[in-house]
Amino acid sequence: MRYSGYFLPTYKETPAEAEIVSHQLMLRSGMIRKLASGIYTYLPFGLRSIRKVEAIVREEMNRAGAIEVLMPAVQPAELWQESGRWEYYGRELLRFKDRHNRDACLGPTHEEVITDLIRNDVHSYKQMPVNLYQIQTKFRDEIRPRFGIMRAREFIMKDAYSFDVDEEGAGLSYERMREAYSRIFQRFGLKFRAVEADTGTIGGSYSHEFMVLAETGEDQIVNCGQCDYAANLEKAEIVEKQDPAGENPEDMKPVEEIATPGAGTIEEVTAFLSVPAERLIKTLIYVVDEETVAVLVRGDHELNETKLRNLLGAQSAELADAALIEETTGSPVGFAGPPGIKTRIVADTAVKSMSNAVTGGNREDLHLKNVNMKRDFNVDLFGDLRVIRPGDACPRCGGDIHFGKGIEVGHIFKLGTKYSSALNAVFLDENGAEKTIVMGCYGIGIGRTVAAALEQNHDENGMILPIPIAPFEVTILPLQMHDATVVETAEKIYSDLSDQGVDVLLDDRDERAGVKFNDADLLGIPVRVTVGSRGVKNGEVEIKLRKAADGTTAPLDGASNAVLNQVAALYDSLK
Ligand SMILES: [Zn+2]
Repeated sequence: MRYSGYFLPTYKETPAEAEIVSHQLMLRSGMIRKLASGIYTYLPFGLRSIRKVEAIVREEMNRAGAIEVLMPAVQPAELWQESGRWEYYGRELLRFKDRHNRDACLGPTHEEVITDLIRNDVHSYKQMPVNLYQIQTKFRDEIRPRFGIMRAREFIMKDAYSFDVDEEGAGLSYERMREAYSRIFQRFGLKFRAVEADTGTIGGSYSHEFMVLAETGEDQIVNCGQCDYAANLEKAEIVEKQDPAGENPEDMKPVEEIATPGAGTIEEVTAFLSVPAERLIKTLIYVVDEETVAVLVRGDHELNETKLRNLLGAQSAELADAALIEETTGSPVGFAGPPGIKTRIVADTAVKSMSNAVTGGNREDLHLKNVNMKRDFNVDLFGDLRVIRPGDACPRCGGDIHFGKGIEVGHIFKLGTKYSSALNAVFLDENGAEKTIVMGCYGIGIGRTVAAALEQNHDENGMILPIPIAPFEVTILPLQMHDATVVETAEKIYSDLSDQGVDVLLDDRDERAGVKFNDADLLGIPVRVTVGSRGVKNGEVEIKLRKAADGTTAPLDGASNAVLNQVAALYDSLK
């Protein structure tokens, strides 16, 4: 590609509308342009990266035995009503009526459509397993789209769906996808982790998120230093170390009432009473689905709402408002305690080993000391309800836990029969008995991958994309366009490399050297070849990797081969 004839509008300044690095760089480097809130055009330079991501995904999906289809963006409401999600999905589902007044939506995901396809055409165990995927544009009407294509309303996704005769088969399909995903992210050249995740609103029984590691990531990742356990913060399990001293009933002291005027927060109470937060039982009043529930965690622990929802099998769990707290506990916010509370009480496992604890007194400005379970209150249900934190042990091997940040770009779910039951997708097994198909679903955000790659790979001058997903592999900068030898040399390398199938951008603009260098850094093309008057006179060109501080020189007659070797070495380094 010749820069002079290409459509590559760049910005010198960082656009004010962009909050994060990837969004800034994608706008500045002419990868994307905004059409409306959360809706973007992919310019030619950005589309090249998108297409490379898609190509790798497609190759690995095909290699794993998945088969490509293409489903419509517009979906009829009937299917969503059948699955129950027409009601449940909320306002992220963009709904509309067609000219015949029929309800429809723009697909944010395709479980319903694919299950409908399969139930009409798959009737026998002999037709399974089957795994169908597509790379397609989706629409999710985010309330606050931001971060460019990282959280857009319209986005390109690869989604795959597997169909099996039983749980065991579904497990194998899931494993095949997990392995394919690892190869895909390896081939992208990104640092990533597959972490155990909560199954969230899609539902199902088991899932992993594929996270691109980046300091700027929004998701907390927990991983073990000793084994391969990794999970996101919502999911990370906790195995409590039991404190034997706490379970000895001999230790119980009589309850004492203590006036704690104005001390309603954990910090205020611990300061006022000079006790550490781990001696406190924090009592939180929640509305779980419709029911009011008191939730107990140790004072220094944080409640994990996802775990609360899962423990109670609930759709929603929200902190009660001040009025409901007062109605439930008889005191204003900050003084709730389990003794005497009339609602169901659920507690984190760590509370089990607490004794002579401090709790709220269910009266304004009152706390209780030496509160003990069984004697002073009863817990209806215990479970792992808190957020993991540094110092906790790995739930698998007891090893040390590390915390990092990541960006979710892929997600795989074992769905079970959630959709096949709802849509009655059944088949006859080898004995002629009717069974329900067992499903899995597997997504990768294509545009999001490019954005996440940029969050992981950039410096103050621009992007440094890994070569497999960079828009071009090599850029050639002829520094003096009026010097015929410079231009001829650059043209020769350009045609040699193009003949070898290398993606090359020849910066043949009549611009100053400084402009070309700055743009080359901004565009982040992995290998830069500089052809200048002085070097050509000495019989050499400079080859520099974008990620390296310095370049090396190569003789004119071996320049193209030297570049080819550099390109090959960059790919080899990812294997
Ligand atoms: Zn471990």
